[in-house]
Amino acid sequence: MITTRNPATGETLAEYEELTARQIDAKIARASAAYAEWRTSPVADRSALLERLAEAYDANLDKLARQATLEMGKTLKSARAEVAKCATLFRHLAQTGPAMLEPEEWDLGGGKRARGHWLPQGPVLAVMPWNFPYWQVARFLAPTVLAGNVGLLKHASIVQGCAALIEEMMHEASAPEGLLQNLCIGSAAVEPIIDDPRVIAVTLTGSEGAGKAVAEAAGRNLKKVVLELGGSDPFIVMPSADLDEAVKQAVSARIQNTGQSCICGKRMIVHSDIYDAFMAKFSAAMRGVVAGDPFDDATDMGPLSSMAQRDTVLDQIATARGEGATLEFGGEAADGPGAYISAGILTGVPLDSSTAQEEIFGPIAQVYRARDIDEAIRIANAIPFGLGSSVWTDDVAEQDRFVRDIEAGMTAINQMLASAPQAPFGGIKRSGHGRELSRHGVHEFMNLKTVMLP
Ligand code: NAP
Repeated sequence: MITTRNPATGETLAEYEELTARQIDAKIARASAAYAEWRTSPVADRSALLERLAEAYDANLDKLARQATLEMGKTLKSARAEVAKCATLFRHLAQTGPAMLEPEEWDLGGGKRARGHWLPQGPVLAVMPWNFPYWQVARFLAPTVLAGNVGLLKHASIVQGCAALIEEMMHEASAPEGLLQNLCIGSAAVEPIIDDPRVIAVTLTGSEGAGKAVAEAAGRNLKKVVLELGGSDPFIVMPSADLDEAVKQAVSARIQNTGQSCICGKRMIVHSDIYDAFMAKFSAAMRGVVAGDPFDDATDMGPLSSMAQRDTVLDQIATARGEGATLEFGGEAADGPGAYISAGILTGVPLDSSTAQEEIFGPIAQVYRARDIDEAIRIANAIPFGLGSSVWTDDVAEQDRFVRDIEAGMTAINQMLASAPQAPFGGIKRSGHGRELSRHGVHEFMNLKTVMLP
């Protein structure tokens, strides 16, 4: 039995019966049958389905958003924005996707030519996290529909209501039966599905630990895996930057989704010349963050996603202090039943400490002082993760250095990093491998078949 709880109140929301092995087997069989039909469907039909999905998400925006807020505590306004962003992605791929499936041709010399055809491959398992319960799934679902593949969704346990609604949206969009099936299962049931020969690949968005477990199972089966894992992104501010804007975006980055975003700036690395000015403004803004009822539009951030998540963050803060870091303020659990925590700042974190090396999935910023650009890059790279980064400088030579030298899948210049349907998304190092979004994401689970032309 999977129980969901409202993290703002601690109340039980619903209980979900987990699928039995026999039921999972039937769902995989249905996925195979759906694939047998969908793989040859005209691309125009796939585009049309993506359009209808966009309409379904738009029409049910409020219902979807409320469920996310109830189950994982994000503010209702951010949940609405998330649902709207999914509709944008579906529309974007409906319009631009068909061109991504066009064959490519190569001249082999001597009058010979070869052509590459993008073909689907079969049912793909998606193991998804709760932090953006619709957007993370949309990043998998949209390319799955377009490619001619089919999907099996194992969503995070705490957002089973959102998972059920995603399947409902597929029905509302008149998707063929079995094109996307929600599997109500715990994480222990994942490996046998990866072992099943009818499932051709797996994609996981989540923590490093889950990534390892899924990648090991995929490796044993020689199946392709895309991993979108954690990060502890640097947010670097240099003297030429617009300081007020940098501070404003640093706060947004660190508190968005109550600090539970893979690509939000988590480590602020600030040049010594502006360190004091940055700290004064950043501290004032972080102290002013309003944590409260996520349904209230005046709230900046809701609770963490669960009491367990709050305990993890509180433990990390205690460990940080034990390792010599200073908690400037914040990081305090509120009294009462909700999983609330105040925004806070850690300074003096030793670079080789576990705190510096781990991801803190909560609204606690680490601030580091850097003598120059070399030290800023050294601090940025001194962690096992390599997901995103945000750099603030008007100096073009410095921008080029950051682009070349920061070990990350993404670098945003003079802005907070955010995903976009048009641009590839993904990390390096222990943040995973593979890409989502853009044509690169669409092609991840397709077979680029080379045809030698007569
Ligand atoms: P999580 O605990 O790793 O869970 C993610 C998913 O994996 C859930 O469906 C979970 O199921 C499942 N899972 C957990 N352990 C597993 C195992 N051993 N075998 C198979 N499946 C397993 O992560 P989370 O707490 O939901 O999400 C937060 C993490 O995701 C953070 O590290 C964040 O940075 C990362 N993230 C990365 C990206 C990106 O694009 N790179 C985006 C968003 C989030 P249960 O819920 O049933 O445990």
